[in-house]
Amino acid sequence: MTTLDIQKLTTDFPLLNKMIALEELSWFNPNITSLEEALPYVGLGENDIEDASQRLSRFAPYLVKAFPETAVTNGIIESELVDINLMKTSLEQQFDTPITGRLMLKKDSHLPISGSIKARGGIYEVLTHAEKLAIQAGLLSESDDYSKLFSEEFKQFFSQYSIAVGSTGNLGMSIGIMSAKLGFAVSVHMSADARQWKKNKLREHGVNVVEYEQDYGVAVEQGRKEAEKDPMCFFIDDENSQTLFLGYSVAGQRLKKQFEEQGIIVDENHPLFVYLPCGVGGGPGGVAFGLKMAFGDHVHCIFAEPTHSPCMLLGVHTGLHDEVSVQEIGIDNITAADGLAVGRASGFVGRAMERLLDGYYTMTDEAMYQQLGLLNQHEGIKLEPSALAGMVGPVVVSQDQPYQTRMQFDDLKMQNAVHLVWATGGGMVPEAEMASYLAKSK
Ligand SMILES: *Cc1c(COP(=O)(O)O)cnc(C)c1O
Repeated sequence: MTTLDIQKLTTDFPLLNKMIALEELSWFNPNITSLEEALPYVGLGENDIEDASQRLSRFAPYLVKAFPETAVTNGIIESELVDINLMKTSLEQQFDTPITGRLMLKKDSHLPISGSIKARGGIYEVLTHAEKLAIQAGLLSESDDYSKLFSEEFKQFFSQYSIAVGSTGNLGMSIGIMSAKLGFAVSVHMSADARQWKKNKLREHGVNVVEYEQDYGVAVEQGRKEAEKDPMCFFIDDENSQTLFLGYSVAGQRLKKQFEEQGIIVDENHPLFVYLPCGVGGGPGGVAFGLKMAFGDHVHCIFAEPTHSPCMLLGVHTGLHDEVSVQEIGIDNITAADGLAVGRASGFVGRAMERLLDGYYTMTDEAMYQQLGLLNQHEGIKLEPSALAGMVGPVVVSQDQPYQTRMQFDDLKMQNAVHLVWATGGGMVPEAEMASYLAKSK
């Protein structure tokens, strides 16, 4: 791209001055549209989500065998939905702001196999690739019992192929663990922010971990280059993959079912607000797409990013998407929220989803640590720092009268609202590491 004229950019978009000053800020996009109008820009639909859902069902018998901890859900990787009333009271007190409606937590942090939201998209993409290879080789058909993949014969078959990915940690965990279990040779290219315990865990699983001193963008680029040299290697492209996106999107219909089971209504008079921590955008973007397809215009998705890595807000707000990085406007992309340490957003996700996302806000690392401690204190739930980015979302919405007025959320609707914080990771953090997080929260 041509060099960026920062002066012009900050004149055209004054919000960037606050962003560059690393202040916490929020922006509710006035240009959102209905699902119907926005769908052509996504280029995916109900059939694609259904296809992903059925693929995951086909693999369920395999997952039960390969990961016995998934037996309780019959091989379906899904998380709990819980009320967090004590945390709601805490937020109201901390920010001196009433939050009307119900506050709930979606515990993707505790998804089986890899303990983060990446257990949706990452595992799905590996399974999709494995299925394709096995079907092409005449070893598998869609009507088979996929538990047969859990065998020496299939491990041998997959060992001819390799998989590579660049990651800040959790995507590497999901793809590394799943690929190694199937028998693939797998390389994970880890950015500087990736935690040591994640690298250790992957090596225990026989994954080739390549470490970088640079950030996520460099790790992805190097991974891509390595993979291009090897025709047997499949590169999982976190920045552009529709397959990953669809793996995440299945969450929408699953959540709808959980809501129905708990008798929770979402409609014109019962809005659902969902707060999603955002890194490159694939996870929250895919989940948001699935939610929109499940609940239509009655679900309102809001993305949360660190003040040091506001790449999606920057890309969507300026319309430059992946043609601008936070570094180019003088922000360092250094954050304790390792899952969100991304300087340049996915252009695919930003362009596909911008009309469907109500808003964006940023949060300091200190604020994430503070909520980490308070969630543990009040609810006994332990998360990693990234996963707390969504926690103040209900406060941001409750304080923003212009947004509520524009969207015609009157008092009655706000009293009927459900605020859902998407907890994206932390279930597998070792005890000593968690103790240091909790110490920092004080
Ligand atoms: C990866 C990740 C996210 C964000 O997902 P993206 O696809 O990078 O936007 C959020 N929280 C945690 C814990 C993650 O690992």
